[in-house]
Amino acid sequence: MSTALADRLADVDARIADAARSAGRDLSGITRIVVTKFHPVSLVRELRALGVRDVGENRQQELTAKRDELADVVDLHWHFIGQAQTNKARAVRAAADVVHSVDRPRIADALDAAGSGDPLDVLLQVNLTDDAGRGGVAPRDVEALATHVAGLSTLRVRGVMAVAPLDEEPARAFERLRGSADAVRTVVPDATWISAGMTGDFPEAVAMGATHLRIGSAITGPRPVRG
Ligand SMILES: *Cc1c(COP(=O)(O)O)cnc(C)c1O
Repeated sequence: MSTALADRLADVDARIADAARSAGRDLSGITRIVVTKFHPVSLVRELRALGVRDVGENRQQELTAKRDELADVVDLHWHFIGQAQTNKARAVRAAADVVHSVDRPRIADALDAAGSGDPLDVLLQVNLTDDAGRGGVAPRDVEALATHVAGLSTLRVRGVMAVAPLDEEPARAFERLRGSADAVRTVVPDATWISAGMTGDFPEAVAMGATHLRIGSAITGPRPVRG
């Protein structure tokens, strides 16, 4: 067991608690997801031994492989946070408990078509940059996307997700995300989740009202290089 990992996790959790206290928020309303992409399954096991229950992956193949290898661990929640491709929707749905990256009707339709049984929790990813090539629906289109996804019987819209742009104050960008969250709630009143905040900006995300933080390197250490 790596004490460095335990120390980093404790440090991040203390910073989350500080940010919540400053914002007058209850910690029970905040889920800390540890992003384990590119790291080996052994790291996920170590994190679980440290009490982590929510992990995030951004590639379908890696998510599927890790979940298969950890089939004996039934109390982990797997969050898919990467770009979803329609032809991988079935595999994403089979391996993810929550999909954070629904950003167009086609991927929502593909995930819905792959469904049976329990509804899948999904978040609508919002593009906070001016670059239409980035992942996420434009803020002006988020309400229409929410209406579309809300009409799919095997998906459950839980809220919104975004990555803050690199060239802007995260707090300002997160204010726009909060506007998108409000827009989604005009369609789905109980869609209260806001997934925002990474290693560089999670205190700002807590201040804005994020309910799900996606934190990687501050906890795991630097990611192994991979193509
Ligand atoms: C990798 C990743 C994260 C975590 O990034 P860190 O800066 O290492 O905390 C969060 N969200 C998404 C969508 C990611 O791809």
